[in-house]
Amino acid sequence: MYSNILRHPGPTPIPKKVQLAMNQDMMSHRSEEFVQLYRETTNRVKPIFGTKQDILLIPSGGTAALEAAAVNTVSPGEEVVVITVGAFGNYFVSICEKFGFQVHKLEKAWGEACSAEELGAFLKPLSNIKAVFATYNETSTGILNPIEQLAEVVRNQTDALFIVDGVSCIGGAPAEMDQWGIDILVTGSQKAMMLPPGLALISVSDRAWEVIEKNQTPSYYLNLVSYREWAKKGMTPNTPAISLIYGLSAVCDLIEEEGGFSQTVARHELMKNMVRESMKALSIGLLTSDEHASPTITAILTPDGLDLKAFLGHLKKKYHLDFAGGLGHLEGKMFRFGHMGYCFPSDILQAVSLLEAGLQDFNYSFEPGAGVKAAQNVFLAAQQK
Ligand SMILES: *Cc1c(COP(=O)(O)O)cnc(C)c1O
Repeated sequence: MYSNILRHPGPTPIPKKVQLAMNQDMMSHRSEEFVQLYRETTNRVKPIFGTKQDILLIPSGGTAALEAAAVNTVSPGEEVVVITVGAFGNYFVSICEKFGFQVHKLEKAWGEACSAEELGAFLKPLSNIKAVFATYNETSTGILNPIEQLAEVVRNQTDALFIVDGVSCIGGAPAEMDQWGIDILVTGSQKAMMLPPGLALISVSDRAWEVIEKNQTPSYYLNLVSYREWAKKGMTPNTPAISLIYGLSAVCDLIEEEGGFSQTVARHELMKNMVRESMKALSIGLLTSDEHASPTITAILTPDGLDLKAFLGHLKKKYHLDFAGGLGHLEGKMFRFGHMGYCFPSDILQAVSLLEAGLQDFNYSFEPGAGVKAAQNVFLAAQQK
């Protein structure tokens, strides 16, 4: 009877308008109609990336776009830096190692961000770095790296490209790819972009195109030059995920209806604050500091004495409230509350309220209503601004 309340870091809920848009009749990807849809839609996505560059669409998960960013820019044996603050940073490390890059790993403890100073010191003794890879939003820990400052360090200290995985925040976090000096920015459809899985979005700076044009490593399906050539004609090299592009166009409508992308970003910021304040009011710990907290996902420490697996199972079974667990060594020690994409302050009030109901079922000692009240206070204060 009830539908699942999916508070995950992806896949995330899909708006009805997007679902309906995806149901449109199929068309040829070599037709005039497609060219129009492709051109209009990719142009409308540019403000979300903060770029004037083309947005290229790959029919794939986010990982393929990460792979494309790596394989098109760096050759085996070349040196790269990968900043890793969690599971998805490690993902970038594995991709780079798989292609035989010489990886210098700047690793931080899970729950911490990488600061500009740390990156600056790390880069100092290195002289031949071709690219620096970073995760904007570390989905495993709910950390938002200070990507603008990191970009500045890369720019000031090296000639390396700065390649950013924005998979779990682009669409919910501010991004100024051109202004900040990001060379490649990547995201996927199923996180903050309010779409089902299966569409990767990638944008490339002029500097990165120069490097890509000279790169000799073969790639076929993920060859970015061929995506760029076809994009000039308003098309893709092979059959695109047409339904998802219909959906993406509807996503752009929804963002416009919200009052533009800055409003979408403000909503995510508000939801982050609601979640964090509610947990503090319940004396439940948070993995990250307020300063580096993600606007799209919050990592919440397991309340004292609670059997987390049983608790999450209970929330899902009894209240249809579906949170994601911890990854790697944090499994059992924390869970993740997703608040990205098609998620509103009312959804946060609902989820916090049900979370409290679950805590009561588990005889957890707390003041009932304290979390909801804290979230509501944050919400009401924002309405008065
Ligand atoms: C989900 C995620 C990915 C992987 O994306 P897929 O679509 O599963 O391939 C990569 N990086 C980050 C930060 C993610 O959150």
